[in-house]
Amino acid sequence: MSETILFLAHTEADGSLSRIALEALAAAKSLGGTLVAGLIGADVQAAAGSIAGCGAARYLGVAGEAFAESRYASDAAAVEALVKAAGATVVVAPQTSRFARCLAGVAQRMGGRIDTHITAIAEGPQVTRWYYRQRMEAVIGRAQRPWFLLVESGVAEPYLSRGPEGAVVLEMLPVEVSSATRVVGRQSPKAEQQTIRPDAKLLFVAGAGWTKKQADGATHIEDAARLILGFLGATGASLGSSKSLVDLSGEGQAVLPFLSHMNQVGQTGATPRHPKGLSACCHGEEPHVVGWRFIRERRAINLDANCGWARGKADVVYVADAFVVMERVNALLAGKS
Ligand SMILES: Cc1cc2nc3c(=O)[nH]c(=O)nc-3n(C[C@H](O)[C@H](O)[C@H](O)COP(=O)(O)OP(=O)(O)OC[C@H]3O[C@@H](n4cnc5c(N)ncnc54)[C@H](O)[C@@H]3O)c2cc1C
Repeated sequence: MSETILFLAHTEADGSLSRIALEALAAAKSLGGTLVAGLIGADVQAAAGSIAGCGAARYLGVAGEAFAESRYASDAAAVEALVKAAGATVVVAPQTSRFARCLAGVAQRMGGRIDTHITAIAEGPQVTRWYYRQRMEAVIGRAQRPWFLLVESGVAEPYLSRGPEGAVVLEMLPVEVSSATRVVGRQSPKAEQQTIRPDAKLLFVAGAGWTKKQADGATHIEDAARLILGFLGATGASLGSSKSLVDLSGEGQAVLPFLSHMNQVGQTGATPRHPKGLSACCHGEEPHVVGWRFIRERRAINLDANCGWARGKADVVYVADAFVVMERVNALLAGKS
């Protein structure tokens, strides 16, 4: 059966398409079939022009102030209209929080199916995704249509416009928004407080040892915070944590205020993908280290020569006091050696 593939994207605040959206477009193109582009945003004209050479048979848009911000009701209505107008059998969209919020509902509404967190895509379509906390990888196809596919970043090289950006014939679809939900603004942490940086080359993992009594019989939380934030500031590394460290706040113990469960790496945490990892004051138990499966080069600093890292889980283990090591590393980074 020849498929009608709808590439679905929302614009960014400046009216452009994000890198992950352009990756989804490249993935959609690779499926063959008839390609249709469907764009949502305050104004989608510039975004459509930027992909004028992508080979889409049609360009559809839903635009207006109501579609500037992420909101379930307006986004779901816009997507439904686009899928219907395109006659789409397969919908390929980037795995953004905006689409993750509304596409499952649209699939249900339209009697379709959805698969999310897709990491590879091939003709058929055949899609790859992980199950059971990234322990099993499956390649799946489905007979049900429309089939919605939310693709992760890295699924394809971003679509690169060849030749001049052009004017496209954009078919605008009228969509009524009856939602009582108003977007009154956004609240997000300041950039410097954001310690989770998926694109960083290095993952720095802090363990519960940073909050434990040290050789002098006292805890040194403030020093720990200064050393960790100093290292992150100097290197741009992403901050991970063991479960024990992020659980401490629930136990009423002194904690590192910039850590939350979002930082947790492991079986019940995240499985980040950085080329390198450095763990400090973390024991390296299996439920934690399983979250390091995609970290290629691993180093650890631990006082205990028998810690889990020393048992084949790290390439290099420094048996040393992490407070001393990181003080020295930060001084070297600051050129104060
Ligand atoms: C079902 C299940 C799921 C779990 N999921 C996760 C998960 O997703 N992620 C996770 O992290 N854990 C998980 N755990 C918990 C995991 O088993 C460990 O308990 C946890 O990872 C231990 O955290 P930690 O190494 O930071 O703390 P600890 O075990 O307390 O280790 C602290 C380490 O710091 C070292 N240290 C202390 N001071 C210094 C110093 N000055 N310099 C250098 N080293 C020092 C100590 O030698 C010690 O090795 C799970 C457990 C279960 C049962």
